[in-house]
Amino acid sequence: MVDLSSKASLVVGDRTAKVLFEELGLATVEDILRHYPRRYVVRGQLTDFHSLNDGDEVTILARIASCKVKKIPGRKGGILEVVVSDGSEKLLLTFFNQAWRAKDLREGREGLFAGKVSQYKNQRQLAHPDYLLVPEGEDAQTAADDFAGKYLPVYKATRKLPSWKIAQCVSLALANVGDLEDPLPVQLQSQLDLPSLSKALREVHQPTDLLAAEKAIYRLTFDEALAMQLFLLLRKREIRKNQSKVPTRLNEELLAQFDESLNFKLTAAQLRVWNEIRLDLAGDSPMYRLLQGDVGSGKTIIALRAMLSVENGQSALLAPTEVLAQQHFKTFTQLLGKLANRGALDGPMEGVRIALLTGSTSSADRREILGLAKSGEIDILIGTHSLLNEELKFKNLELVVIDEQHRFGVEQRDVLRSKSEYPPHILVMTATPIPRTVAMTVFGDLDVSTLDELPLGRTPIQTHVVNSLTEPKLMERTWQRVREEISSGHQVYVVVPRISPTDDSDFSNFGLSGDELKRIKRLSGDPELQFSQPASSVSEIFPKLRDEILNGLRIAALHGRLSSDEKESTMRAFQAHEIDVLVSTTVIEVGVDVSNASMMVILDAERFGVSQLHQLRGRVGRGQVPGLCILVTSATPESDAALRLKAVASTTDGFELSRLDLEQRREGDVLGSAQSGATSHLRLLRVIRDESLIIKARQVATELIDSDEALVNYSGLLIEVDKLRQEERASYLEKK
Ligand code: ADP
Ligand code: MG
Repeated sequence: MVDLSSKASLVVGDRTAKVLFEELGLATVEDILRHYPRRYVVRGQLTDFHSLNDGDEVTILARIASCKVKKIPGRKGGILEVVVSDGSEKLLLTFFNQAWRAKDLREGREGLFAGKVSQYKNQRQLAHPDYLLVPEGEDAQTAADDFAGKYLPVYKATRKLPSWKIAQCVSLALANVGDLEDPLPVQLQSQLDLPSLSKALREVHQPTDLLAAEKAIYRLTFDEALAMQLFLLLRKREIRKNQSKVPTRLNEELLAQFDESLNFKLTAAQLRVWNEIRLDLAGDSPMYRLLQGDVGSGKTIIALRAMLSVENGQSALLAPTEVLAQQHFKTFTQLLGKLANRGALDGPMEGVRIALLTGSTSSADRREILGLAKSGEIDILIGTHSLLNEELKFKNLELVVIDEQHRFGVEQRDVLRSKSEYPPHILVMTATPIPRTVAMTVFGDLDVSTLDELPLGRTPIQTHVVNSLTEPKLMERTWQRVREEISSGHQVYVVVPRISPTDDSDFSNFGLSGDELKRIKRLSGDPELQFSQPASSVSEIFPKLRDEILNGLRIAALHGRLSSDEKESTMRAFQAHEIDVLVSTTVIEVGVDVSNASMMVILDAERFGVSQLHQLRGRVGRGQVPGLCILVTSATPESDAALRLKAVASTTDGFELSRLDLEQRREGDVLGSAQSGATSHLRLLRVIRDESLIIKARQVATELIDSDEALVNYSGLLIEVDKLRQEERASYLEKK
């Protein structure tokens, strides 16, 4: 009996199974059936060559226009040159030493051709393509299978494994599996008007018509969304249910003292969000909450208040970079004033004790901090990834705040949670606002609080795009404007994509994961592919600014290759206004807060992602001073890159920009490596595109769990959820 979990070799034979595994990682019958087509070609409808891009691996349906053998003097064989047509355009296919193919590749015949598109002597070509001709004459009867349907699936294929070969494997798999057990109960299928799993798998590969294919894809996508939502909701329940907690005592008096020391009033949104957090803290299960809000909406103050208010326990704040951890430490110490001195010799009895632990903390200090954390002396511990270290133990960790969440995985949250005897409250802050479905998908196991209001008196940032090639006058004006800002007492950031010309980027130095890195690289664009000119770098730009363009100003450089002492002292000097202009890489991207900074010039702005630009410019205009941001680019006007910059310039609404950003990303970048990729169980789901489907799935998942918490009556669905659990665990192991 063949079922989904059977080995692929059972239906396709050992040899093909080996190729399937080596080329595409497909090992089981299910793997084969879940290798969905990328698109369909309609029999008789030739592929429009306009849609082909150089470098793409393509599978096209085309008609042979001519075929001739070109002899090469002094050599046997020769080159077989076949020209195929889509009805108007031509494409050259070349085969070396394969003149014998001429008898098959006759003018007028149609077929599928697969290969890599390239340009040769001003002509588009596929060199040495694979092909499968539409059978004619006698063959039409015997070999008709490959072209049986009107819609032919086109798969992600490889040189050794062309699309039609995969289609043959799929056919064999479909013919052998018989009727499948459907994880989705029949009643739900009909209620949601979805085809059965068997039908969906058949129709996605061999559609009777496009509507059926669409319905099949919808069903399969829904399955993914439902499994994901069940996974998240179950986790959410589990965390809240199995973990009871003594309500946290809140130190209202200390909070009141703190509020009094602030020179501003909390916004209505801050008060509302604070109230949500306060209720969580005082509840009898741990808080598990996401705090999101646009750049500058005042998330940090809220986090600090939460940490302050925890009276009978300790708090930890986990920051993604060292610069940011240091800054938090400083901000907190400053904001708290004498309230931060508890335990010091001349310090008060009231208040809290704060410490900073990062990778560059000296080993003596580190030892002391570990001791104080364990004995419960430290109330608030701020740090980077080093807080995840096993040696760190708390006496009574009551609250964990994770800043700029997207860089920490769910499992890392679990590590922190396990640092205490009782599960601590967890508050997660995102760097950028996120659309609703992303919150639902990526953070679906958290409650969400949103700061949807900026503090009063903030003048919105003005953003302008300047083309460095076509607008030299504006470029000059930009630098002149920098001088004007400085002479009126403000400070300026200049942001560049790289540290040095040979350098890839500055990101690797900041503990970013490989995926994060890849995402940023892709968003910044691969210079070789996308940009004609190399990116500006600190090492080139800095001397030029210092010695020529901004000569006479106090100017310093900041990037990830500096030691943390150097980084810190530079940041401190900038904060203290001993520096006018800071030339920096994206180390300042998140969270850096110098309210006297009024202007930012971003060079080669097209290399940054939309949300990243929004984050970056959020560094200016943070106080009463209006902010100005100049996006300098050499991108051709009307190019995609230029349009992206225009969009950033046209709005300061982080939610809108984040949507735009996500539309351009692949899903793996949104969900993290665990939920994407070849072996992933999320193959079709796209969080932005499938918004209504995800909302529907969330609703169905909630109803299912409400009626049957352990999903005892839905064992098929539970299996799908388990697959996601395993995947997540596996991806965590990889990261370690
Ligand atoms: P976020 O982390 O959300 O980007 P921050 O918490 O860093 O924002 O706050 C941005 C700036 O606004 C900080 O300088 C902070 O002190 C200030 N701020 C926070 N809340 C208020 C408020 N209610 N009124 C005025 N300024 C505020
Ligand atoms: Mg912040």
